[in-house]
Amino acid sequence: MSDASAPAVSNFLREIVARDIAEGKHKAPVTRFPPEPNGYLHIGHAKALCINFGIAQDFGGQCNLRFDDTNPAKEEQEFIDAIQADVRWLGFDWGKNLFFASDYFETLYQWAEHLIRNGNAYIDDQSVDEIRANRGTLTAPGTPSPYRERAVEENLDLFRRMRAGEFPNGARVLRAKIDMAAGNINLRDPVIYRIIHTHHPRTGDKWCIYPTYDFAHGQSDALEHITHSLCSLEYEDHRPLYDWLLAHLPVPSHPRQYEFARLNMTYTLLSKRHLTRLVQGKHVRGWDDPRMPTLAGLRRRGVPPAALVDFVKRVGVARANSVVDLAMFDACVRELLNKTSERYMGVLRPLKVVIENYPEGQVDELEAVNNPEDPSAGSRKVPFSRVIYVEQDDFMENPPKKFFRLSPGKEVRLRYAYFVTCKDVVKNDKGEVVELRCTYDPASRGGNSPDGRKVQATLHWVSAAHAKTAEVRLYSQLFNRPDPAAAEDPLTELNPASLEVIEAKLEPALENAVVGKPVQFERLGYFTRDQDAGLVFNRTVGLRDAFAKA
Ligand code: ATP
Ligand code: MG
Repeated sequence: MSDASAPAVSNFLREIVARDIAEGKHKAPVTRFPPEPNGYLHIGHAKALCINFGIAQDFGGQCNLRFDDTNPAKEEQEFIDAIQADVRWLGFDWGKNLFFASDYFETLYQWAEHLIRNGNAYIDDQSVDEIRANRGTLTAPGTPSPYRERAVEENLDLFRRMRAGEFPNGARVLRAKIDMAAGNINLRDPVIYRIIHTHHPRTGDKWCIYPTYDFAHGQSDALEHITHSLCSLEYEDHRPLYDWLLAHLPVPSHPRQYEFARLNMTYTLLSKRHLTRLVQGKHVRGWDDPRMPTLAGLRRRGVPPAALVDFVKRVGVARANSVVDLAMFDACVRELLNKTSERYMGVLRPLKVVIENYPEGQVDELEAVNNPEDPSAGSRKVPFSRVIYVEQDDFMENPPKKFFRLSPGKEVRLRYAYFVTCKDVVKNDKGEVVELRCTYDPASRGGNSPDGRKVQATLHWVSAAHAKTAEVRLYSQLFNRPDPAAAEDPLTELNPASLEVIEAKLEPALENAVVGKPVQFERLGYFTRDQDAGLVFNRTVGLRDAFAKA
């Protein structure tokens, strides 16, 4: 869905690629998007996708989709399938270039033996905890493992027996032999293979040892002849290891890694670990809950992929970390939906209105414009009758001065229908207003002033006899604080009011609303029919910035 007509804004990554092409280093870039299939993609991944696929597209290159499926304990086929669906939804096409790190397990294994034979790797019998304890700190060097000087033959023998399944999980690991005093802790003999007796979604039970991310990533890049390996800043400290491994292995190419700042957004958590907890703890209704920052959640909420791509473009690409205001994302969604979505009328919190001088049983079919921003969207008929609903908020019995909507004695316009005047108020035992008695001016049909007199407000409404009852799910931000990631446990900062379910009255045409296609409920916001059975709508985004009001 990326807009080919919009010129790509340059950034430091594009400058690097352009320079490498100008200098003849590469004819065209080959990039990759390397998700680990241990969860669903989120809006941060959309940024990485736009960067990798965008550069490939704009420089006539190619972007691979490569699953980093090196930890079967956390990875599932469900995630592999969902990630592919999400990438396609965003509008990106990897063509034939779908790869899995697991495709390279045999090569990676051979390369691990290569390191061992050259004295560049050894089997360590220390436990994970001992290894961590001996790793040293930022100020103190690490302590070499007592197994660090094992003979090549013994290392080879043990590694082969690890592969053969002779040892339980955690009994031994293979470590690269680099430098226990290195300033960069990633170079202090990093673990490159571990024993995990777990069924793998793709390789089944063929393997019980698996390469670590660090041992798989750069080598997979090299095997795919990736030119520019673009990843987020947290991998910067891994780059020396990335380069060290490429330098010590018989790889067919030497990719270069470049880092960019992650996308962070206020009130939003972008970490699969925490998102997994939200799903598993049933704090949300699933990975595609519309409150989730996942692509599946945003899609279900009704966010068009083009709005996401636009948002990512506006955020830009930099090396400095920053936090983007959630309101900016909403603004991108709103701006696009304003242009593209059809208008309808729906009343979220209905207040009954009886129009006393309107004949019982009469129905007017009034013409309503589908999208004022798009004349080609045409018009439709909306039924009007003696009893209608208006929004409770649009009435005040004792209004302050600046309240222009309905109140006793006041005349307003009902959109596309008539001028009505409030004559009387009906209350229940508790003194709450439950019904308004109004009159209408038959000469104002279509909502046009019959004699030039003006009204100060135009309200939306729905004919009670024709209304369809719908469940409407109103969403607000999932977390109370703007920086949930900074909390000791973000899950204690959940906003208990992030979902409000109400029963709304909608104009009859909305009964045929298409699942997943956003529409505007006039004066209220953008809503998208949900996949659930019955008539269910998700609020995609309100018409105005909810935060600005507060
Ligand atoms: P998470 O922290 O959510 O688990 P991750 O980096 O571990 O994310 P991966 O599946 O490994 O998840 O990520 C695939 C790619 O997406 C990586 O190249 C990573 O740099 C990038 N990425 C992940 N999160 C963001 C983000 N918030 N902004 C930009 N890029 C991101
Ligand atoms: Mg990761």
